[in-house]
Amino acid sequence: MELITTHVAADFDCLGSLVAARRLYPDPVLAFAGSVEGAVRRYLEHPPAPLEITPLRRVDRRRISRFVLVDVSSLDRVGPVGEWIRSSPGTPVDIYDHHPAAARAPGTDGGLPGARRLMRPVGATSTLLADLLRERGLSLSASEATLLATGICEDTGFLKFATTTPVDVQALEWLKAQGADLAAAERYLRGELGPDQRRLLDSLRRAARPVPLPAGGITLSVVDAGRYVPDAATAVHQLIDEQGLHDLVALIGMGRNVLMVARSRGGRIDMGSLAARFGGGGHPAAASATLRNQGVEEAAVAVTAALGAAASPPRPRSGGGRAAPPGPGGAGGHPAAPSRAAAPGAEEEVGAALETALGPTRVARLRRIGGEAQRRGGAAYLVGGVVRDLLLGRRCGDLDVMVEGDAMALARLMVEREGGRVRSHPRFGTASWMLPDGERIDLASARREWYQRPGALPRVAPGTLADDLSRRDFTINAMAVRLAPDWFGRLVDPHGGRLDLRRRRVRALHAGSYADDPTRALRAVRFATRLRFRIDPRDARCIRAGAARGEPATLSGARLWKELCLLLREERAAAAIGAMERLGLLAPVHPGLRPDRKAPERLRRLEKVLRRADLGYDLKNIDSARVRLLALALPLRRRERRALGARLELPAAWRRILDEDPTGAAAALERLACSRMAPRDSRIFAICRKLSPESALVALAAAQGRGVRRLLARYWSRLQGVRRRITGHDLIRLGVPPGPAFSRILEKVARARVDGRVRTPEEELALARRLAGATPGTAEAAGRGAASRRPGKVRGRGRR
Ligand code: ATP
Repeated sequence: MELITTHVAADFDCLGSLVAARRLYPDPVLAFAGSVEGAVRRYLEHPPAPLEITPLRRVDRRRISRFVLVDVSSLDRVGPVGEWIRSSPGTPVDIYDHHPAAARAPGTDGGLPGARRLMRPVGATSTLLADLLRERGLSLSASEATLLATGICEDTGFLKFATTTPVDVQALEWLKAQGADLAAAERYLRGELGPDQRRLLDSLRRAARPVPLPAGGITLSVVDAGRYVPDAATAVHQLIDEQGLHDLVALIGMGRNVLMVARSRGGRIDMGSLAARFGGGGHPAAASATLRNQGVEEAAVAVTAALGAAASPPRPRSGGGRAAPPGPGGAGGHPAAPSRAAAPGAEEEVGAALETALGPTRVARLRRIGGEAQRRGGAAYLVGGVVRDLLLGRRCGDLDVMVEGDAMALARLMVEREGGRVRSHPRFGTASWMLPDGERIDLASARREWYQRPGALPRVAPGTLADDLSRRDFTINAMAVRLAPDWFGRLVDPHGGRLDLRRRRVRALHAGSYADDPTRALRAVRFATRLRFRIDPRDARCIRAGAARGEPATLSGARLWKELCLLLREERAAAAIGAMERLGLLAPVHPGLRPDRKAPERLRRLEKVLRRADLGYDLKNIDSARVRLLALALPLRRRERRALGARLELPAAWRRILDEDPTGAAAALERLACSRMAPRDSRIFAICRKLSPESALVALAAAQGRGVRRLLARYWSRLQGVRRRITGHDLIRLGVPPGPAFSRILEKVARARVDGRVRTPEEELALARRLAGATPGTAEAAGRGAASRRPGKVRGRGRR
């Protein structure tokens, strides 16, 4: 009898491998060497077809003629079976495992010199066994094929991990032909969490923190659960999935021991080696260890140190025996290889949506960019907001193209081929291709980013598609469309953006995202408002907590204003301001903004004003962000408004506008509008001349009653350009001594001009003369001076 077993904490790759291995032996007995992961346990409670698995205690050791180990090569990881093997030196041992690194790790199968091994660097042991069965012409039942497929999907992260090879893809194809149900595989892997796991998941989420490493950031989550939590790995998987994490190490304190669960789909760290340092094991993409008799904080210190040592620079993907795709070569020394080898069959085809959204000319252009990038040994992708908008069927703006390789060189090449010009921004590794027909295509080299401290600008290095998508703000903005000729129009969606678009939610890629860059809190509000999406509840909690900790306050004024400005220019800015208030984001802009609960209402009225203000000037020249900022700042005192201008580092012209007093103006105009007599134009003028067009709009929104609109409209259409012609020189010629009388006379002349009581410079002089009581001769001399000046030119504000 052959005893076929696997490592403790067995997962689906183990189960699939057990099932496959039994086909290779005449008298197999399957047994688990120890615990199984929760998802596997749930599967085994109701398997679709009976699986004969014998409890280890019922196995008759005397009948074992061969030991078969699958997905493991260390005797330390097979529970009591390790001891059985050691004490039966004459019994042959066969090992099927999918990464030879484990065999070299310390403490592995050093005691098994005679073991027969089948080990290949593929994504899963199920791959290796499926390949063997295929070679031998053996077949599987549909439920067996599904189990192996589940194992492959689990260990390769649905073919997305860096360890995935073409052999895994082929194996999956073969299993599909055997009847594997991939939808069922997904269901098995994403099993419901129990209350313990849900609690753990919640703690893991809150504790997730980025750890910057030279090879790129990874996430560390350290949680003290206080006691044993069954099936902790399922909660860890869920965290990885929901946050689209690349590389995660979770340390979970369970009484006297700490469980380490380590997963990597970025390939930055060999998790198997990391776990081996702590007495555990696994594979480069998935590993675990139990750190005994220590506290979780102590473990965290040791693991963080080991992470620093274990981090390797990103490796080109291995092709499972085939050469990795060529690097970008002359593309400016970018070390990252393009991600072409990872193109999985399961990617959604969005070519038709692309065609509809962009039209044939732009699509053809993108195809040519993709072709050129590929000829240079790189790859190009359409990325960011345009992908989101095309999937939503919204109007698409400028095209953003991400290049694995040198974006600037590619832009220059496109100009050589097709004309136009390049505007390059070498500091950012980006270039804009300005086409002859007026279109602009922005090309940027793929990069990875990490944050040295929250709120700081990120550190940047060249990276891959996966790196570039992982640095982005939200899942819905972290999708790409392949432009390479062979895979044109395939959607790359590693973070579940497509699903979030369907669920209409804005979700950051990981819990630490808002702390890394607090502008993302405002961006979340902006996108949620614009698209009428919901901010994911977890994100809303993170934003609120971050705001309470003062994270947005760490932003420079310029960065804060840039983001706030974009938000204030949104069509539904009033709703966005309401959302900002609910999330506690107004106070960090200025503490005085917090208590003003009327702000959203005021802004709503302003929207109406902006839509139909008929005030006699062109609203196109008005920056709606300025107007809305003014409306928002209305309840602040002048001193506070100045502080707001300084906080946001506004330019001087904008600060002057913040200094104006639209509330006072609104009140004064209301009084005028209510008076029984028709107000004189000069009264209207005196109030309105102190207002910029922006403040006038805000005054209109703040005013009660319709009369104010009429007065403002009159000012802007009739009065604002009216100026007196005579100056102080004319008064001097009249013999008026400079002094208080001087400005009083000029003021009265100006009012008379506004009211239409004087219409020409001569009439102005005559009035001035009357007011000054000047001699006729002097007045005539002055009259020649004033009349010789050209009429109609509007002078500075002070001259009235
Ligand atoms: P819009 O339609 O408003 O232009 P957009 O998605 O194109 O939306 P941009 O501000 O132009 O937004 O940014 C382009 C892309 O860059 C985004 O889609 C996002 O992927 C990324 N991005 C921008 N700002 C950030 C940020 N603060 N953090 C992470 N990613 C960001």
